[in-house]
Amino acid sequence: MKINKKIKITLSIIVIFTLLSTGYIYIQNKKSIEEIPYTLFLTHVEKGLVEEVELSNNEKIKVRLENGSVFITDNPRKEAFKEELLLSNIKVIEKDESLSQTIPMILTVSIMAFILFNISRNMSKQAAKEMSQMSKIDTDNKSKRLTFSDVAGNEEAKEALMDMVDFIKNPEAYNNLGARLPRGVLLYGPPGTGKTLLAKALAGEAGVPFFPVSGSDFVQVYAGLGASRIRELFKKAKEVGKSVIFIDEIDSLGKKRQGDNPAGSEEGDRTLNALLTEMSGFNDNDGIIVVAATNRIDILDEALLRPGRFDRQIEVNLPDVNGRYKILKLHSENKPIAKDVDLKKLALDTVYFSGAKLENLMNEAAIYAAKEKAKEITPAHINKAYYTVLVGDEKKDRSAINLKDKEITAFHEAGHALVTKLVAKENRVSKVSIIPSTKGMGGFSINLPPDKMYQSKKDILNNIMIALGGRAAEEIIFGKDLVTTGASSDIEKATEMTLSMIALLGMDEEIGLVNYNVIGNRNLDNKLLLNRTKETLDKLYIETKQLLKDNIQILKALAKKLVEKEVLNEEEINYIISNEV
Ligand code: ADP
Ligand code: ZN
Repeated sequence: MKINKKIKITLSIIVIFTLLSTGYIYIQNKKSIEEIPYTLFLTHVEKGLVEEVELSNNEKIKVRLENGSVFITDNPRKEAFKEELLLSNIKVIEKDESLSQTIPMILTVSIMAFILFNISRNMSKQAAKEMSQMSKIDTDNKSKRLTFSDVAGNEEAKEALMDMVDFIKNPEAYNNLGARLPRGVLLYGPPGTGKTLLAKALAGEAGVPFFPVSGSDFVQVYAGLGASRIRELFKKAKEVGKSVIFIDEIDSLGKKRQGDNPAGSEEGDRTLNALLTEMSGFNDNDGIIVVAATNRIDILDEALLRPGRFDRQIEVNLPDVNGRYKILKLHSENKPIAKDVDLKKLALDTVYFSGAKLENLMNEAAIYAAKEKAKEITPAHINKAYYTVLVGDEKKDRSAINLKDKEITAFHEAGHALVTKLVAKENRVSKVSIIPSTKGMGGFSINLPPDKMYQSKKDILNNIMIALGGRAAEEIIFGKDLVTTGASSDIEKATEMTLSMIALLGMDEEIGLVNYNVIGNRNLDNKLLLNRTKETLDKLYIETKQLLKDNIQILKALAKKLVEKEVLNEEEINYIISNEV
């Protein structure tokens, strides 16, 4: 936008200048010099009235009379003209008249050229500047090369990326075995969780240049520039060979194309297409890896996630208590910390803090300490910093509200996990967490037995109970009136499963073997379906609650451990369950 304005201004200056100068020349020629017939000129010469004649190669010559008046007349262009004049005592000035007219012309043209040159230089300078801002090569010796040891926590993401280091270093080895190398890795998760850091560390570990850009650099530029920037970026990367290209905020250029607005952002599409084309244009042994990051994987264009593009997707989540401790420790390493600072306790108190926020916390504490000219960072400095960091967030009393939040989420998630283990022992619960992720609050993951082709009615009933387990646990522990909105998507899922069981799969005795989709909306007795769905859900909910009540000790033990550790893995879950029985 800025540049467009500049161009407009400069162009108007040029136009005005050109008009003025041509006008000036025209008027100059026109006004000052009246033309007289050649014969009259000769009479003037005879009468001795002519003082001076300006000779040139032009059609006209300029004549000045003794009385000072100036006019032009035809140039006779004869050989002896000058001599004749001289003999008549007339001063003759030989002037290349064409030059005097050309000079302003030349001036105009050269000024125009100069201005144009400057604009284009500014434009390409600007583009070059932006390009270089976009892709500073981060491998010069001045900036410290990051490694995975600069990333605390995030163990799973680190592990997944460590595999890539070898791909970058020895692409030939994989190529020789016919392996298709990964080209793109998508890191997704909340802001400040270390996605950029991980990408930098990947480049650092592999010892290759790092080209960071942001998706937002490619939008809001002149038409077509986004796409050409992408090409330029990849050209640069290919020139250096093995490297890591990092595209932050990829969602701003790879948003889902909106069906109802196909022409919505042609420019964005062009940029996205350029990216996809470039990515499929790599040679397999180039050793170039494109890492992209987003907070919103859900709004990404699917085209980006297909094989050969960002086909590896790694979730980078907010750190759990242990992760937060490691991050705090890492960011305290270069700071003098007083002995009575308890980082373990601080980790407990910083639920839902991202790595960036933790880093910020330690930095603010150091600033407070420095302001006080203290030698060390004390708990008081950290405490003060804590509230500074939280400003902007809604004010939260860390000890009260966060602990309550944690407890509710812990019981909710423990409820899901416990019901799973109780109704479907063969299902593995690989993880339970109370840390919010991109998928929502908390979360637990079950791995269903892999060798199942069909789901039985019993399986579906179990899954409905598992979905209801979160709300059921909340109700048992906190009471009917204190259940939360945390179960909204669970209820949605449970309703959907129940309805399809009843209306589509012929699994309800009362409804029978009727598929309501086939019957369509004609004469459909919605009320009957609604009643059966509700009855079924109510019955399953009561069963679920009973199941949890019967195992309340395990539920409480799981929740307690979750509040403490925030994330439990499969062994820990199984351990608690088998020890409480
Ligand atoms: P993202 O790209 O996910 O938004 P960044 O990588 O930009 O997050 O993180 C910003 C800063 O926060 C980092 O430069 C680092 O100082 C700190 N940080 C975030 N996560 C971690 C982590 N896991 N370990 C150490 N520092 C971290
Ligand atoms: Zn739930």
